Amino acid sequence: MNRLFKSDGIVLKSIKLNESDKIVTIFTKDYGKIRAIAKGVRRIKSQFGSSLENLTMLKILFYRGRSLNIVSQTEIIHSFFPQCKNLERYGWAVLSSEMVEKMSVEEDPNETIYELLKTFLILLEDDENPLLLIESFKWKMLQILGYLPELQKCIYCKKPLKKEKYYFFNLVDGGVVCPQCRKRNDDNIIEVSDYCFRLLKRIIDVDLVKTHNKKVAQEGLDELVKITERYMSYHIQVENLSKKFINTITLMNKQSSNMPKIE
Ligand SMILES: [Zn+2]
Repeated sequence: MNRLFKSDGIVLKSIKLNESDKIVTIFTKDYGKIRAIAKGVRRIKSQFGSSLENLTMLKILFYRGRSLNIVSQTEIIHSFFPQCKNLERYGWAVLSSEMVEKMSVEEDPNETIYELLKTFLILLEDDENPLLLIESFKWKMLQILGYLPELQKCIYCKKPLKKEKYYFFNLVDGGVVCPQCRKRNDDNIIEVSDYCFRLLKRIIDVDLVKTHNKKVAQEGLDELVKITERYMSYHIQVENLSKKFINTITLMNKQSSNMPKIE
């Protein structure tokens, strides 16, 4: 068996192991998520430089040890958000990498996830509507992992949906419910406006690149954010610290925009 293997990858997580070493988690194009030890990376003159920082896209050579993988060589392709100039976008980037980290299985190759994360990070760098982009990213991840809800026909009676102003969406059973099948007082059912429903179908149908810099009605987008969050909390356990971070940043931005400008 060849003990050396190489691939392109994106660093998802990097944690301190001891005074000189780190454990890094990298989503690779060819092998899926790989956890490996990077020896001496915390020393000032490390051969790895900054190549193993979070959100770095790199070429990487691993050595398969007896019990764990070891990083052997690295070469940076691109560092995403190295300076955190835009904290909000940086927060979305961290959130996307956390999602991939938590929603993927180790050494289970999935090039579609790799390409999705890579495309997302590239588009995010100059996207004017990052909130729409991250929502699209989340639904693409759900799509890849087989968690898409039924949006064409009622999940109970299977009749195709008629055009409505509002639709009933069952978060737990995962799909739309026609007015006849809707049980009143069901806490798992939420109403979704026609606009938000069409927006959701659209982002599922098109490639991520088509949502780049797209303008949509803020109200519809806010509605989508709420639905996505509730849907994901039922189906995917993603405990994310960066969400708290983003909430804090958003609050800070709001507060600073309310403050009088200093001339
Ligand atoms: Zn029905």
